[in-house]
Amino acid sequence: MPHAYDVVVIGAGTGGYVAAIRSAQLGKKVAVVEKQKSLGGTCLIWGCIPTKALLEHAHAFKVVKDSDEWGIAIPYGAPAIDMRQVQARKDKIVGGLTRGIEFLFKKNKIDWIKGTARLVGQGRVDVFEGDRQTLEAKEIIIATGSSPRHVPGIEIDHQRIITSDDAIQLTQVPASLVIMGSGAVGVEFASIYRRFGSEVTLIELLPRLVPIEDEAVSAELEKSFKKQGIRSLTGTRVTKATATATGVTVEALTKDGTTETLNAELLLVATGRRPVTTGLEAEALGIEMEQGFIKVDAMYRTSVPHVSAVGDVIAIDGLSHPQLAHVSSAEGVLVAERLAGKDVRPLNYDHVPGCTYCDPEIGSVGLTEAEARAKGYDVRVGSFPFGVLGRARMAGEIEGFVKIVADTRYDEILGVHMIGPRSTELIAEAVMAMRLECTVEELIKTVHAHPTFSEAVGEAAHAVHGAAIHL
Ligand SMILES: Cc1cc2nc3c(=O)[nH]c(=O)nc-3n(C[C@H](O)[C@H](O)[C@H](O)COP(=O)(O)OP(=O)(O)OC[C@H]3O[C@@H](n4cnc5c(N)ncnc54)[C@H](O)[C@@H]3O)c2cc1C
Repeated sequence: MPHAYDVVVIGAGTGGYVAAIRSAQLGKKVAVVEKQKSLGGTCLIWGCIPTKALLEHAHAFKVVKDSDEWGIAIPYGAPAIDMRQVQARKDKIVGGLTRGIEFLFKKNKIDWIKGTARLVGQGRVDVFEGDRQTLEAKEIIIATGSSPRHVPGIEIDHQRIITSDDAIQLTQVPASLVIMGSGAVGVEFASIYRRFGSEVTLIELLPRLVPIEDEAVSAELEKSFKKQGIRSLTGTRVTKATATATGVTVEALTKDGTTETLNAELLLVATGRRPVTTGLEAEALGIEMEQGFIKVDAMYRTSVPHVSAVGDVIAIDGLSHPQLAHVSSAEGVLVAERLAGKDVRPLNYDHVPGCTYCDPEIGSVGLTEAEARAKGYDVRVGSFPFGVLGRARMAGEIEGFVKIVADTRYDEILGVHMIGPRSTELIAEAVMAMRLECTVEELIKTVHAHPTFSEAVGEAAHAVHGAAIHL
């Protein structure tokens, strides 16, 4: 007899494990099939957590290197990064968090089936590798996530030509690193390894870094990276990459039509992520797909009854779907609540924060200025630089700004874009303001504590009305 559950979740990333916990909280009998040795998926094991841990090390190293400025005497020689300790601390953080999810599974009486699952129809999930068995489910949630996207013609050998999965595990700082792609993953590794001492070159096909961000943010990041010694080649296409005994040779076609040859110790390919559906047999079951992604409606229903899908693996009809941990978790909660019969409303993807933890950090929500203009809004913009703030000066982090994009007619906040210290935290206020449909005037009237970084948000709102106090 197959083991019977109310809900079987395939994949224990931030989409799957959160869906499982919420389902269990709502009284469902739940099993999660996960093929990796630990729970938490890309975010905990390969993504958000390890990269942000490395970024904290990079920040600590920066502060120590600027010790003179801080009045801290280092008596013996120059500070150096010890990658063994960096990796050990990062692994400890990851291990603690993944074990935390195991604890939450036990607390919520969720069965973790260790293995690889495929769909076999009629509410059955076949675990064909690992703890082999067949599970019976009233509802199935697919949360199989994503993996690094490979570029045709560029062979990832995991030695010289690597992906983010390899870049989080380096035990030596490469002397030189070329990074292909300047999305969140690319610029975060640029910040990490530049701070650790590598020569870093970023190659971006599109005309600017972090191309989905507001243009002013891209320009500020490129300026800051230049100051830090990170070379940015935008509008440039990698045409060839060859691993050699000592490194890698990269050929790139630059925006002025010339071919540039770069030699580096490593090439990091950071050109996005593809959905993971191999072996799942979703198509065989009749699940509609879209360019390899599982197609769902606004309630995360696939085309097959009683099979839902969330997270990096999905495409939602007519929407651009961000591959972010907090998005997958929000979707997981929503599906669990829908399956439990709760009244749920579709997520508003315009109110999802995007955070990039490079140095300086980026936080954004809503429309960029260009998008707002393209949609025909009568746009008003206000910006305020962090450098004016006392708090930013104390921290020695004076780069960047907060920019608010608003509509003149109703004083509506259309988007908020920030680059600079604590932007990934400060963006939460903007998300809440937009969710509550707060006007610029209401943001102005919101009292921001002094001295804080958040004063930049209040001042940017003042700036929209042409009345920033400290400018
Ligand atoms: C380097 C990097 C940094 C990132 N940083 C951030 C960040 O700072 N903030 C942020 O919001 N997002 C970040 N992300 C993105 C984030 O990690 C993903 O959006 C998130 O993990 C998606 O969650 P998911 O549950 O959809 O899938 P995943 O986390 O990919 O989980 C899917 C799980 O399913 C399992 N699985 C797959 N197929 C099967 C099968 N057939 N049977 C059993 N198990 C299966 C996999 O082993 C995996 O554990 C980062 C990603 C990377 C790569």
